[in-house]
Amino acid sequence: MELPFEKNALLPIINEETLEYHYGKHHKAYVDKLNSLIPWTEFEWKSLEEIIKTAPIGAIFNNAAQIRNHNFYRNCLRAPKVDNAPIGNLAQEIEKAFWSFDEFVKKISDSAVNNFWSGWTWLVKNQDWSLEIINTSNAGNPMTLWKKPLLTIDIWEHAYYIQHRNARANYIQEIFSLINWDFVQVEFEK
Ligand code: MN
Repeated sequence: MELPFEKNALLPIINEETLEYHYGKHHKAYVDKLNSLIPWTEFEWKSLEEIIKTAPIGAIFNNAAQIRNHNFYRNCLRAPKVDNAPIGNLAQEIEKAFWSFDEFVKKISDSAVNNFWSGWTWLVKNQDWSLEIINTSNAGNPMTLWKKPLLTIDIWEHAYYIQHRNARANYIQEIFSLINWDFVQVEFEK
């Protein structure tokens, strides 16, 4: 995918060098790898979502899921905003599920800080429309658990190490001013 924002749009929280590596090298490597793996397989003409739901554990699943996870993560971000928070029915559902928006931020931050693996922390919508925070490791995606991703935070070290070094908690604390709640709202409505 094309980046949905300029490389300097997320400053000062995510800098251009981080994006040059994270988007230009890591994200691209998953795309190049998948493109080298799928010709002449049953997955050649399938969507990323179909591959994630049907591929066995292995390189094709890992690379497809990492592409989808990174595309989704890019769409979850936009330029920093003061008092950045959801509005409307999504805001109400978050308050219903987590008591308040501040409590939600605290819970999802704790979950991300304590995700032991390289992986992802998600806000998901369950089949009964209830909201839940979950962690996945490595390339894991909630779709394989029949949960719909609404928001994700990449907590692989490559997402923050250039700028924040080992301080994952700083990266997570600051990323909440970048969340594109309009995108999350659209995913919630789907
Ligand atoms: Mn990443």
